[in-house]
Amino acid sequence: MRRKIVAGNWKMNGTRTDNGVLIEAIVATVTTERTTCVICPPHVYLHDAWRLLRGGAVALGAQNLCGEASGAYTGEVSAAMLKDVGCDYVLVGHSERRTLFAEDSALVARKFAAAQVKGLIPILCVGEHLSDRDAQRTFEVVGTQLDAVLQLCGAKSLAQAVIAYEPVWAIGTGRTATPEQAQAVHAFIRQRVAHEDAKIAAGVPILYGGSVKAGNAQDIFAMPDVDGGLIGGASLKAEEFLAIFAAADRLAA
Ligand code: PEP
Repeated sequence: MRRKIVAGNWKMNGTRTDNGVLIEAIVATVTTERTTCVICPPHVYLHDAWRLLRGGAVALGAQNLCGEASGAYTGEVSAAMLKDVGCDYVLVGHSERRTLFAEDSALVARKFAAAQVKGLIPILCVGEHLSDRDAQRTFEVVGTQLDAVLQLCGAKSLAQAVIAYEPVWAIGTGRTATPEQAQAVHAFIRQRVAHEDAKIAAGVPILYGGSVKAGNAQDIFAMPDVDGGLIGGASLKAEEFLAIFAAADRLAA
């Protein structure tokens, strides 16, 4: 059985004080390693967060990285730096990066590769806009985003990676994909990987993201190809995030 994972994407929110309160609440409750819990604070708070996590059950992730290893890239943060401050995971290709910062799938694939070179586990985000879904182009869009990584890094790279399906129309909108809509895309992603390597496809965790809350998590996470969630807004509220984590962990029992 694949491990369940719940990852919190804090986006550009919080202060040192807020983070301390949130992390203390998470650390006090998440003691099991049966289900993986990851928090992704903003870059400037990563090392503080790593200290507060105290090497316990909760892992640290970043929200972005540079596709280049080092050098004259003002304002960028490398995979080696993220590793150095205690990260094990990093988001790549979040829809806000793709849409607001013009990251295309080729750049996302380079970031994915750069993360793995330094031993970080990339969480590759893929997902369609509402106009794509309305035009019945969901599989085409998600397939193309996935193919960029498969072509650059090969299917075997997914043995040390996580995929997150995040329909853009569900991110931060309060509109969630139904469990059946999520399952259909997750199954498509797994099949696409299986076409290259069936064993890797069976093992790669595929998370759902998009307005997951305590009230809908269990139904979505119970779908056969959904292995947990990438949580945005709800990850900033300890009680809500912990209830989502508990929903995943119950299914892992
Ligand atoms: C996200 O940003 O990855 C996300 C899923 O956001 P939200 O849960 O707020 O929709």
